[in-house]
Amino acid sequence: MDNDRVLIVGGGVIGLSIGWKLARAGKGVVVFDRDRAGGAASWASAGMLSPLAEVRFEEEPLLRLGLKSLAMYPDFVAELEADTGQAVGYRKDGVLLVGVSQDDLADLEFRYRFQKELGLEVAWLNGAEARAREPHLGGQVSAAVWCPGDHQVDNRLLVAALATGLEKAGGTLKEGASVDELVMEGNRVRGVRVGEEVYEGEMVVLSAGCWSGRLPGLPDEIRPPVRPVKGQIIRLQMTDAVRPHTIVWYNRWASSVSVYLAPKDGGHLVVGATSEEMGFDTELTAGGMFELLRAAWEVLPGVYDLPIVETLAGLRPGSRDDAPILGTTAIDGLIMATGHYRKGILLTPMTAHYISELILTGEVSEVIRPFGLERFL
Ligand SMILES: Cc1cc2nc3c(=O)[nH]c(=O)nc-3n(C[C@H](O)[C@H](O)[C@H](O)COP(=O)(O)OP(=O)(O)OC[C@H]3O[C@@H](n4cnc5c(N)ncnc54)[C@H](O)[C@@H]3O)c2cc1C
Repeated sequence: MDNDRVLIVGGGVIGLSIGWKLARAGKGVVVFDRDRAGGAASWASAGMLSPLAEVRFEEEPLLRLGLKSLAMYPDFVAELEADTGQAVGYRKDGVLLVGVSQDDLADLEFRYRFQKELGLEVAWLNGAEARAREPHLGGQVSAAVWCPGDHQVDNRLLVAALATGLEKAGGTLKEGASVDELVMEGNRVRGVRVGEEVYEGEMVVLSAGCWSGRLPGLPDEIRPPVRPVKGQIIRLQMTDAVRPHTIVWYNRWASSVSVYLAPKDGGHLVVGATSEEMGFDTELTAGGMFELLRAAWEVLPGVYDLPIVETLAGLRPGSRDDAPILGTTAIDGLIMATGHYRKGILLTPMTAHYISELILTGEVSEVIRPFGLERFL
């Protein structure tokens, strides 16, 4: 009986959402997290659902995947909130992509043209028009691109609801349970070992975030090329005087810093994030905090007076091409759902849907086929 179940290694937003979908479809599922579920990258995250503002030239297939997942968000949230009775802070604010210097504007214009070419709904605003939309913007902001289709969610409420949804639907969540080894039998998975105990299962999903490539027992030839990309982030407390109602995003050309300010329902203004290749280091640095706050203050001067509630650093699971690794592997019964890098919250509904569909039906959807591990082999 237990051999029919699915074992999920890693209870971040990806593992939890797949587990929830499988459990509500009646499948036996156990999610293992060696720590607190949702406590790693999914906790540190800013919860931006912003494929339009993040458009970059080399990433069109990933952009399409992001847009698809964004379109799935309203139903995904409605289903989760109905299942659990827990709100997840989904907001359709839109993003204002702002610029200050000549360099910023040239970059902004380049992006804007590309967004238009892709048929995305965006609008060019001069400084005054941008301030009319978001009165907290500083006088230095000289132009902006309005991306009304970009949304956000409260990532912390999201993981909490997913954990509730998983258990309510009959799935099991084991926290403080480190998967120490993938247990194989010939070319197929037999289960996982946690301490002395072996859990048997029909399938194993590897969704251990930036630790996915390090699971003992995983054959070397299919280790996913995932590395940690450090992100420092700050949470400020908004006041009645400073309460922006759109997300503001500033690519500060002069210091190569990209900072966003995302107002959350609970009153936090999330200011993030650095992007650093520092291995598994999660120290906060003066430079990281300084760059974020300087850029934030430049475009939204009111942040100067806001209390700092929290500072932290998390590790994004970055793959070699920044796109997720999704689907089957050369090992029977082993499925990958990892490498979501800086878009894991955005890509959650899409990942949960297509990976659970793959597990339940054996079908690899055309949507995720280009994102298989094979592309690296
Ligand atoms: C600062 C920052 C800002 C971000 N902002 C955004 C954003 O605005 N929008 C967006 O879409 N994305 C954002 N991201 C990216 C997003 O947070 C990640 O892509 C996403 O959370 C990855 O989810 P995950 O479940 O794969 O990994 P994680 O959340 O890291 O979860 C992996 C889990 O696996 C567990 N684990 C590891 N090894 C084992 C083991 N052997 N046994 C058991 N458990 C194990 C860990 O304890 C952890 O809980 C941001 C990330 C950071 C760090």
